[in-house]
Amino acid sequence: MKKSVLIEDLSWTEFAGAIAQDNIIILPVGSTEEHGPQSPLGTDFFIARALARSIGEKAQALVAPAIPIGNAQGLLDFPGTISIDPVILADLVFEVCENFIRHGAGRFFFVNGHGGNNGALRHAASALHERYGVFVAASEWWTLMPKISEYQAHDHGGKFETSMMMAINESIVDLTKADTKQMEKLTDNIAFDYGFFYRGAAVSLNLPTSMITPRGNFGAPSEEARREIGEAMFEIYTDYCAGLIREIRQIPDGRRY
Ligand SMILES: [Zn+2]
Repeated sequence: MKKSVLIEDLSWTEFAGAIAQDNIIILPVGSTEEHGPQSPLGTDFFIARALARSIGEKAQALVAPAIPIGNAQGLLDFPGTISIDPVILADLVFEVCENFIRHGAGRFFFVNGHGGNNGALRHAASALHERYGVFVAASEWWTLMPKISEYQAHDHGGKFETSMMMAINESIVDLTKADTKQMEKLTDNIAFDYGFFYRGAAVSLNLPTSMITPRGNFGAPSEEARREIGEAMFEIYTDYCAGLIREIRQIPDGRRY
């Protein structure tokens, strides 16, 4: 058992010893952005960090310091939201991992807390593989949850994300302020359901979230959030990812440099 799975808790000698034993690193990547009036700006960052820590403890894998800022451009109408360009995020993730590779890392597991980070993380993963041959896996709890559980997690600051936040720190969620109001139609023929649909097929429309919801949340109603739902999802997801990491350790890392 390690003293701590969090890299920031270790001395450099402890880190060097740990990475020599097991060269996978979990990297939580979040965002600081509005999540409706009931939830903290740090929701995606807190969730990614807590999930990564639990996965690390269950799999006894090292966990990097969480990246608290991501690409949240569509949410910038809401005060307190911070967004960086996806190119900068991809570069940041690439360089953080590059440092770890220099010190012995050969595999990475990205725990993403925010959908807007997807493109940047995919880019960083392929660039790391291309340059160093290292193996990068990435996971998002909300896309996995409907496939491995009964929870149809499908919202932004709604029932499921707010529940997950409550499981992590209920004291900074104020459910009395939860009241989801969102548009159902953009035009007569374009519907909104966690994305836009024209004649039943998803279409990509890069519109600010403030156009869809004046309160900043959408999807399943935040009023229905419960800590117990979040706790159940937390355990299901972290068990799944810890199991996946045990499998990943059996795959050659492909390091070359
Ligand atoms: Zn979120």
